[in-house]
Parts: sequence; C-alpha cells; structure tokens
Amino acid sequence: MITRRHFVSAAAGAAICARIPKARAAGYDLIVKGGRVIDPSVALDAVRDVAIAAGRIAAVEPNITGETAATIDARGKIVTPGLIDIHTHAARSKEGPPLALQDGVTGWVDAGSAGADNIDEMAAVARGAPQIGRLLVNIARTGVAPGGELMDLTRADVGLARGAVARHRDVVVGVKARLSANVAGANDLEALRRAQEAAAPFKLPVMIHVGQNYSPMRAILALLKRGDIVTHMYAPPPNSILDDQGRLFPEVTAARRRGILFDFGNGGGGHFNWDMVERATSQGFWPDTFSTDWNAMSRSNPGVVDFPNVMSKFLMFGMPMSQVIACATVNAARVFPAFDDRGTLNVGAPADVAVLELRQGMFEFLDNYNGKRNGNQRLFPVAAVMGGKAAPQRT
Ligand SMILES: [Zn+2]
Repeated sequence: MITRRHFVSAAAGAAICARIPKARAAGYDLIVKGGRVIDPSVALDAVRDVAIAAGRIAAVEPNITGETAATIDARGKIVTPGLIDIHTHAARSKEGPPLALQDGVTGWVDAGSAGADNIDEMAAVARGAPQIGRLLVNIARTGVAPGGELMDLTRADVGLARGAVARHRDVVVGVKARLSANVAGANDLEALRRAQEAAAPFKLPVMIHVGQNYSPMRAILALLKRGDIVTHMYAPPPNSILDDQGRLFPEVTAARRRGILFDFGNGGGGHFNWDMVERATSQGFWPDTFSTDWNAMSRSNPGVVDFPNVMSKFLMFGMPMSQVIACATVNAARVFPAFDDRGTLNVGAPADVAVLELRQGMFEFLDNYNGKRNGNQRLFPVAAVMGGKAAPQRT
C-alpha cells in the first residue's frame, strides 16, 4: 500500500524512479513546445507548451519543464486542436486517411462516396484509418455515380440505406443527399425526403449538397431539421442562398437560427465562386464549418491542396484567425457526436494536435471557376499528433 508520504518521497527519489519504464518516469510522453496555441474551445491564444501523457492532454502552460520522451519544436508555429474535416471523400482508398493526417486532419467524414451497395469497403477504410474516420451513407444505393446518382429515384431506397446504417453503426454518422440538378434532376425534394426517412429511426443528421438545384433553396431548407448540414453553402445560382439582387434569402438566415449548419465545402467544380463568398460574407453569413471535399488526389489540385489552404481562403476574406481555427476544430467537432471530446486542447481531452505554419507573402487562391484571388498569408501543415502519437510528417 502506498501512503501519500511514501508516494511523495518515492517521486523525489531517483533510485526508485529508475525502475519505472522510461517513457512514464517523467510523466510526459510528448511536449509540443513553444508554439502559439490557438484553442477557440477555451478562448486561448497565447504562447504555451502542450504536454501529453497516456494519449491525453496533460497540461497547457508556459514553459513546462517536466521530462518528456519526445518533443516537437513548435516555436514560430501555430498549435491547434487536430483539424476535423466534415466533408471529404477520404474513404475512397486506404491511401487517403494517412495523407490527410499529414495535413493535420485528425478526424474526417466521408460524405456520401458510398451508398448501400458499396459502403462495406469504405467502412473498412474508416475503421483502419490512423485517425477518426466516419461516413455518411449516400441515400442513392450506388453512392456518387457518373451521370448523377439520383436521376433514377429508385436508387434512393430507404430500406437499403437503413440497412447500411444498421450494419455499420460504429462508423456511419449520417445520411448524404446530393441535390444539384446534374445529380438529381427534378428529384431533389423527394430524394431529400427519403434521406430524412432513412436517417429518422437512428436520429442521425442529413447533409445535403446544394448548388444549381432544380428547386428553390427555400423549398429545400424547409425539409431540414436541427443539426442537418448544408454543404457547398456558397454555390452560385441558379437557386443559391442569394436572391437575384444578391441579398440573402430570409429563409437562409432563419434556417441558421433554427439550428441548420452551413458548411463551406470547397470542392472542385461548381461549388463556390469568390463573388458568392464576398456577397454572403458581407451580409454576415460566414460558414459554421469549413471542409475540403478532399480526396487522395486533391493535393495536386491547386484549388484544394489541403485543409490549411482552404482555411487560408477565409483569412483572406478577413475572418479572424481564432474563428478560422474554430471552424476547422471545435465547430466541426460539435456537428457529429463521434467527435465529442475532440476539437479541443482542454486538459484531459484525447491529444489530437495540429501544428501549422502561418507564412506571410503573396499567395494565390482559387475558386471553382478558375477565379484567382491573392492573399498575403497562408497556413501550411507542419506536424500532427493523433491520440498522443506524432504522425509521420509530410515530405
Ligand atoms: Zn463531396
């Protein structure tokens, strides 16, 4: 039995410490040292050390002096909670998730790559990922398909989608419906009704992909419930979030007030242009979350590259850094219960950390229409820690 007096004297005695395995002897497994820690979950923006032990955040303080098995030198860098990207296609190949982790992404959601017919493979990728990988099941049984998976409404099979959720309750966190005219034609509203029907018994959110829809935005938003997500929020007309005069539809702000979430959803084609971002943000309509619509090929797509590049686009539009980090961390963590306890560097939380570098200079950013804008700063991924373990660095 160890009394308190015994414990204190043992901790002070080097002879006894020497018998404790080395990594645990000093208390810390890893210290991320000297970075500017930006953790919007606790309104922190200050130079701090982040000490990690047993996979969890052990301390966030200036100048932590305890011994540690490993150190990441973050001086001159930004240290944030691990990034959470809620709209990706990371589950399409097992090569995707490790690449995303190198970019600081410690949690991702694959948004509807797969439907009931092909979700088993992607569920396996999610389970084998080095970070937290989750899936939205596409309401179309085929998943994303050339020619538009919802052109034939018989593919939106509620029973099959429910079966897919039931088979993979550990990794499926919602239902996805892509509602653009080139995906769903005139079937957008009925497809969305079916997505809600599939999600209802499991009380799961639905994420909709909007942009150039057949139906007006107000008719689509009317079918959403609290906690549902609109991705590609700045998709240009027809039937965008803005009216013909460029003003936000009142139904859009009303949807936000009743708990509908709006996600940026960078993507590659047709999902946003600078004009839409400018008009909407000038009316105060900013994203709740960012997301990349990333896949394993995105690094060579200059319009996407990586999550920190997408985040940097909003620095260019004047969003404060703490808010930019919030959209990629704590806000995203609150969308899905799978990320409870993540998106924060609070002491006791699992130690998921991103180290980013903010470089000053002239950087060109792309929208989905080859529109170019220049910004004077850009975030670059430097290092990631997942569950207390340093991830392999990007080369
Ligand atoms: Zn997508």
